[in-house]
Amino acid sequence: MSYVAMDIGGSNVRFTVANDWNSNTLEYQKKPFIRLGDPYLEVEANICRIVDNIPEEVEGLGISLAAVMDRSSKKVKTWSNNPSWNQYELVQHLSSRYKVPIVIEDDANCGAIGEYSFIKEIVKNMAYITIGTGIGCGLVLNGSIFLGENGFAGELGHVYTGNTDRNAVCSCGNKACFQSIASGPAVLKSYNSIAKTKLTSLEQVYSRYKQGESNAVMCLTDMINCISEVVYNLAMCLDISTFLIGGGVSNMGSEFIVKIEDRANERLRCFERQISIEKAQLGEFSGVCGALQLLKDHVHIKKG
Ligand SMILES: [Zn+2]
Repeated sequence: MSYVAMDIGGSNVRFTVANDWNSNTLEYQKKPFIRLGDPYLEVEANICRIVDNIPEEVEGLGISLAAVMDRSSKKVKTWSNNPSWNQYELVQHLSSRYKVPIVIEDDANCGAIGEYSFIKEIVKNMAYITIGTGIGCGLVLNGSIFLGENGFAGELGHVYTGNTDRNAVCSCGNKACFQSIASGPAVLKSYNSIAKTKLTSLEQVYSRYKQGESNAVMCLTDMINCISEVVYNLAMCLDISTFLIGGGVSNMGSEFIVKIEDRANERLRCFERQISIEKAQLGEFSGVCGALQLLKDHVHIKKG
């Protein structure tokens, strides 16, 4: 008997097979997402193939997906990295094949739930912010994930950064959205344009930053400032003191995260407040852990 939790991203499928609910003993695996251009075939290749290869009987399926879900119809509303899944009836497809409890939630919320499971004895409110190709956020308030009225709570990538110098156009069509300024690709693009280079990763820019190269210092200082401003705004709006950073940026080292924390705390000093920003504990596997926690809650509620 086992439970399967997966995090389906545009590039990889991360998963775990659990025999109990203990987050500390899970073993995580990762496979590349197989692109076939058709959601039905991709579900078969990326989800069913994993589930069908588990030798024990599968008792439930928890899925974290990097897409916007319609929570009432259980359809995928939009998946920007894989638009062929837009309007796809994912849960219906899986339910017709597996007669077990199936839960699904977006990856930022799953990441927040996964990370929260490690600190829930210490804090009741936190924000989990992923900064990578895009920017997402999951909010835990009073010990529960907060979805908002339309399920869009934590759509931090489209928060307006309000600086007229920051005129980059976002994928949503608006200017100066947080992710059009501070996501990995946005900073890389900005650096390449200023420095007239063709670097291919943010890590390369970061290594130039550490060497004190002036363009890299300017671009990454702007990134640090922008992230710290958004964190500060969240701290002021929600009175949250615990922030976790996931996604590719979290791999840039504690020094980078400390700078963001210091900047936010400078602004908070006059209110005699202080926040902490830490790297997400589970790294790329936060979402898998969160999908399992969701499944656990669902199964326990059903059993009463
Ligand atoms: Zn936007």
